[in-house]
Amino acid sequence: MRVNAYAAPAEGLPLGPTTVERRPVGPEDVLIAVEYAGICHSDIHTVRGEWGPKPYPLVPGHEIVGTVVEVGPRVTAHRAGDRVGVGCMVGSCGRCAPCAGGDQQYCVDGPVFTYGSADRDGRATQGGYATHLVVDAGFVLSVPAALDPAAAAPLLCAGITTYAPLRRWGAGPGRRVAVVGLGGLGHLAVKLAHALGAEVTVLSRSPKKQEDARRLGADHWFDGSDPAAFAELAGRFDLIVNTVSADLDTNALLGLLTLDGVLANVGAAPGPMQVDGHRLGSARRVLTGSMIGGIPQTQEMLDFCAAHGIAADVELIPAEHINAAYERVLASDVHYRFVIDAATFA
Ligand code: NAP
Ligand code: ZN
Repeated sequence: MRVNAYAAPAEGLPLGPTTVERRPVGPEDVLIAVEYAGICHSDIHTVRGEWGPKPYPLVPGHEIVGTVVEVGPRVTAHRAGDRVGVGCMVGSCGRCAPCAGGDQQYCVDGPVFTYGSADRDGRATQGGYATHLVVDAGFVLSVPAALDPAAAAPLLCAGITTYAPLRRWGAGPGRRVAVVGLGGLGHLAVKLAHALGAEVTVLSRSPKKQEDARRLGADHWFDGSDPAAFAELAGRFDLIVNTVSADLDTNALLGLLTLDGVLANVGAAPGPMQVDGHRLGSARRVLTGSMIGGIPQTQEMLDFCAAHGIAADVELIPAEHINAAYERVLASDVHYRFVIDAATFA
């Protein structure tokens, strides 16, 4: 079926209305009528060519919430009318050790990403800035009724991307967690770390976000561009989740960790990292990264959010405001996720 969508016609060009072909609903597929699609900074990196060449035209969007229209005969987990979500992946090999362990994002063949990947029929996947989507049921999440659907959409990428390292590295009572960068990922990291019981500090270069940080659940706020803040916070944190989309001084962040502290990078800064081995070894610090999260953990995160009343702070926009929203994200002027009303793709 041909459906309305918004696409970048070529690298670096503004997005505009178009149509894309969705495959027929296969035995294990789910046809979803999209209601909301979040704008992730990764969408912007991708269409600006910062992550290498991609097939064009390209429909971004991997924070998708909608309702099931139709399911294939072998689908048992979802039914017509259910509210569901799709995140950054729509396929994986299903046989390798990471897939078998529920970590499809680390599939040894590489997962099939929701847009800009080769799909199993060889065509390029096209994402959620569209009225409809056909997805393998194994990559469709259940969105709990307690969650507002527009505010839930960013959980499918920003939520799981921050939940995964917070859980992996033990954010909880008695643990000091710093979140660097208060954007889409960062504001959810603050809410989630607070709900997990950690003491939460925000490092942001935007003083105007200080009040928001406290409202979101942060115990402390520091100016991340101020060397005095780094001196004051030296050796303080058990875990730092870095969500910044640009290159930062990794060694300065490592210096804020206590013995065995962990710096988990989730921001996709373009440059290679310079790491001072002494800074790592002098307090047995750990430097790691993390990419989204597996399907079972994504469902766990959605259920955790429903139980704790957590969702994104969103600014709902019509499709024709997508390019302006991209500019505002690039200017760190996002409070704290743009979500597109998919009715405006029609
Ligand atoms: P975002 O909404 O733009 O937030 C990024 C925040 O970083 C900004 O709001 C700003 O916060 C801070 N920042 C931006 N430029 C900076 C600079 N030059 N120096 C210092 N701070 C800066 O982006 P997002 O959607 O949260 O995504 C963040 C990054 O994570 C992107 O690179 C994205 O591609 C990546 N990502 C990774 C994964 C993964 O699986 N690992 C998943 C999703 C996204 P302040 O104003 O508070 O300083
Ligand atoms: Zn994303």
